[in-house]
Amino acid sequence: MQIDLAGKNALITGSTRGIGRAIAETLAESGARVAVVGRDLKRAEEAAAAIGKRAKGFAADVSDTAAVTKLVADVEAAFGSIDILVNNAGITRDNLVMRLKDEDWDAVLNANLRGAFAAIRAASRGMMKRRSGRIINVASIIGIIGNKGQANYAASKAGLIALTKSVAKELGSRNILVNAVAPGFIETEMTAAMTPEAREALGKQIALERLGTVGDVAGAVAFLASDLASYITGQVFVVDGGMVM
Ligand code: NAD
Repeated sequence: MQIDLAGKNALITGSTRGIGRAIAETLAESGARVAVVGRDLKRAEEAAAAIGKRAKGFAADVSDTAAVTKLVADVEAAFGSIDILVNNAGITRDNLVMRLKDEDWDAVLNANLRGAFAAIRAASRGMMKRRSGRIINVASIIGIIGNKGQANYAASKAGLIALTKSVAKELGSRNILVNAVAPGFIETEMTAAMTPEAREALGKQIALERLGTVGDVAGAVAFLASDLASYITGQVFVVDGGMVM
């Protein structure tokens, strides 16, 4: 069986670049119509145009819950429904706890965790009515193992994992499946700044001896969005090349 998402509508937050962009491309290639979302409408429309005719651009700042609620309504009005919600938008504001400012704590928690909550609250209404839906939250291995200098980010991703499990229990009876993917180190703008030495040291900790690609993460998301994953909910899929076992 191949991944076939024909007739499905997907909303992917933070999909103008990086992992979110790859998810939007993969879901569109699998037949879904995709809402490409960024903070800036022009960028979202450019990304959607590059992805192709199944993609449409929308703008919303996920840390603004009213904007997220409006985004969901706009996508439902444009597409008719949201069958697949991918909460991918995320930021880092790293610092040691001693130096971490309230504003950096709040910015990360609001974008990474409250944004996902707001999108789930808004999009689950239509899914409940249709008794069908998939919600996939992009967490991080850091939300499982923690990391020095990333207390805010780790807390947001651990929160996202607990949100995933709680919502899976709440919505399971309505046939809404809710899972998280937890990427390890993925080649993106976030990791491009690493020195070759740091990259080599990291590679030694990974069973597959390489960083992941955005496509590696997108493949896991497409699987979880598909009929192939019809009996999987409340799970955290670690996509880290065997770094953490
Ligand atoms: P990225 O910075 O390349 O892309 C993030 C996307 O989210 C961008 O499109 C950005 O515009 C959008 N975004 C950020 N804040 C937003 C906001 N407030 N409202 C709307 N959109 C917003 O990052 P990425 O590496 O592609 O990461 C995507 C997700 O994967 C994030 O949740 C990140 O935490 C997670 N992740 C990344 C890695 C990695 O190694 N790159 C590892 C684990 C988890």
